[in-house]
Amino acid sequence: AESLYRSLHPASAAHSAHAAQFMPGGNTRSSLWAFPFPIYMEGGHEARLTDVDGNVYIDFLGEFTSGIYGHSPDFLKDALVSATDRGVSLSSHHRLEGELAERLCQRFPSVDMVRFCNSGTEANIMAINAALTFTGREEVVVFQGAYHGSVLTFSGNNDVNVPFKTIILPYNDIEALLATFAGRADQIAAIIVEPMLGAGGCTPGTAEFLSTCRELCSDSGAVLIFDEVQTARLHFGGRQSQLGIFPDLTVVGKFFGGSLPFGCFGGRKDIMQQFDPRAVGAIAHAGTFNNNTLTMAAGIAAIDQHLTAEALDQLSARGDRLRTEINAVFERQGAPYHATGIGSIMNIHPNHGPDSKYLRQLIYLDLINSGIFVAARGLISLCFSINDDDIVTFVQKLKFFTEQRSVCWS
Ligand code: PMP
Repeated sequence: AESLYRSLHPASAAHSAHAAQFMPGGNTRSSLWAFPFPIYMEGGHEARLTDVDGNVYIDFLGEFTSGIYGHSPDFLKDALVSATDRGVSLSSHHRLEGELAERLCQRFPSVDMVRFCNSGTEANIMAINAALTFTGREEVVVFQGAYHGSVLTFSGNNDVNVPFKTIILPYNDIEALLATFAGRADQIAAIIVEPMLGAGGCTPGTAEFLSTCRELCSDSGAVLIFDEVQTARLHFGGRQSQLGIFPDLTVVGKFFGGSLPFGCFGGRKDIMQQFDPRAVGAIAHAGTFNNNTLTMAAGIAAIDQHLTAEALDQLSARGDRLRTEINAVFERQGAPYHATGIGSIMNIHPNHGPDSKYLRQLIYLDLINSGIFVAARGLISLCFSINDDDIVTFVQKLKFFTEQRSVCWS
């Protein structure tokens, strides 16, 4: 698989070697690195990507859930052209920010007010700060495997972290939560939790676990923060609306900014009002691009034209179908893999064992060599441009190469 990959991608290899002279490992975004070198793309249209060697892929990664609209969609071009015509940075407020804020508050019943940032990372940092200030407490409960952004990662693997006092607990472990709150409920400012671990491997949070988080926060006065940067697309109103479990603060980003750089945190009015610049001692939260017109215009157009309840439910159904079929192939072929996830977001994992690192690399290379683009870590997220034929193609290719490899694991 590796030699075929190398022979298909000489130009990517050359770009990677060039970039490595000026950037460590040629990389500026850790999640994009892949063995033996990452692929360089020339461009994309709808659900297709073309790399610098001319190979064409069906894009099953969808920019790590952000690229839900497919590549170069017309709505985005129109929004960006009209925003650019009126001025990108106006040194001032403009009407689009209130319009986007209104749409997000209407969408999430738990969200009274929002603020904007440039990334999900920033939005999570600001949400945590809002909770620390609101409660006057210092400790934040986070979960193993959680990813709340580049400086809020809890993978246990050389993570960079901002200096909050964190208590790191196992995900979906109700006993651990109860034991922690029993000892120090009055010191905990917040629980921050993804309703499904995203970068941590698409492990859904159970309803019991998330409602325990809810109850413990309500009882202790801690702030419950749902990081729905990925899961907001699983259902209109996010995973919280699907489960009927509502946090105090919600963080979103990615596709709500039309796939442009974006982050947003919001929730209970009493917590958010700490940012009101008219208040004495208001929390300062500046940012040159927080209200840039490109993201605001793209977000409004995306929400109005694409992120409807019906479109999201259809996408989730298509994802459920793909995941079921992937698991059926693995089972039938006796391949040592399984897929987890909810709706249109999923991850292929090697089953546990000493060879799992190599099995992960192998299936990535086999998929890429078959023209199916996924993340090196096995993440798949569908965009609206993926159709039923693309799903059939994925399953056929998977069937073909897992059959070929069956001697390896039988
Ligand atoms: N939270 C979650 C759950 C995410 O998946 C991500 C990004 N993958 C982030 C936060 C960070 O968002 P950004 O990359 O925009 O900083």
